[in-house]
Amino acid sequence: MYGEKGIGKMSLSKDFSRLINCENDTTDKTKLCECASCDKINNMSHPDFTVIEKSSMCSNNSCCKSPNNSVIKNCVISENIISKSKFSPFMSNYKVVVINQANYLTKVSAESLLKTLEDINNNFIVIFLIENLYDLPATIISRCQTWKLNKISEKEILEILLGNHPEKQKEILEIMSFGSPTLGEASDMLNDSIFFEERQEGLRRIVKIINSSMSDKLNYSKELTLLYRKDKERVLYELKIWKNLFRKILKMDDANEDLETISIMRPIKKGTKLRIKKNIQNILKTEDNLKFNAMPSLVFDNFIINLEV
Ligand SMILES: [Zn+2]
Ligand SMILES: [Zn+2]
Repeated sequence: MYGEKGIGKMSLSKDFSRLINCENDTTDKTKLCECASCDKINNMSHPDFTVIEKSSMCSNNSCCKSPNNSVIKNCVISENIISKSKFSPFMSNYKVVVINQANYLTKVSAESLLKTLEDINNNFIVIFLIENLYDLPATIISRCQTWKLNKISEKEILEILLGNHPEKQKEILEIMSFGSPTLGEASDMLNDSIFFEERQEGLRRIVKIINSSMSDKLNYSKELTLLYRKDKERVLYELKIWKNLFRKILKMDDANEDLETISIMRPIKKGTKLRIKKNIQNILKTEDNLKFNAMPSLVFDNFIINLEV
């Protein structure tokens, strides 16, 4: 399953696993079933339903003392998929293993899976969750069915959020006013104010950088390089805020003036459409260069130097 962050890949995997293992044939599938199997999948205590991700460890204490958090290790794959695939499900029709953020599989883990995926028996299902198809080796993709998840419209997201939290209308409008978040991202920001504050902080920082001197900008580039070594995703998120900022400026005319998010952006000169588009292209190129492992310090310096303000 592939699609943007927060689009619902994990939710759909769980729904799918509940559906194929549900003990009640007749229940209304739109309501949450409470049979033993569905209940255990909800509580993540089902013996035939496993989620593995970067933080997963194998049961061998000498091999996995603490979560690795940078890759999905081979021992985790071996224990949870390769070994388990040889046994029938304990209590349900299907054994399901979900690999969350499967782009973190090491080359060795990915290769070790190929044979299992080929020989897999009919009641064992492995679901890979990724953002982009190219995040997984072609040898794995060719052994799977691919399901693309599409984003629902902003209007629909707004309706769902307002329906679930009518008392939080102002917060919801703030969250939806910038960067067309997915339902998952929007819910995260709504339920955890730190996420939302981080986004606003990022936005403030970026607005300040745009209006600063070249030497400040180059210092910012150095900061990005250092941060990239420690936390790639954090930097990719920062680039996403940059991209969304310029996209928002393009459509600024219809903006709701009362929102904090909009007022943070006010110090930015609007500039011509061409300039804004050049900036968006610059960011897309920066993301590509990082993806193809160019040297981060050069990539960020280039990004800053080519920024049109
Ligand atoms: Zn059920
Ligand atoms: Zn291990």
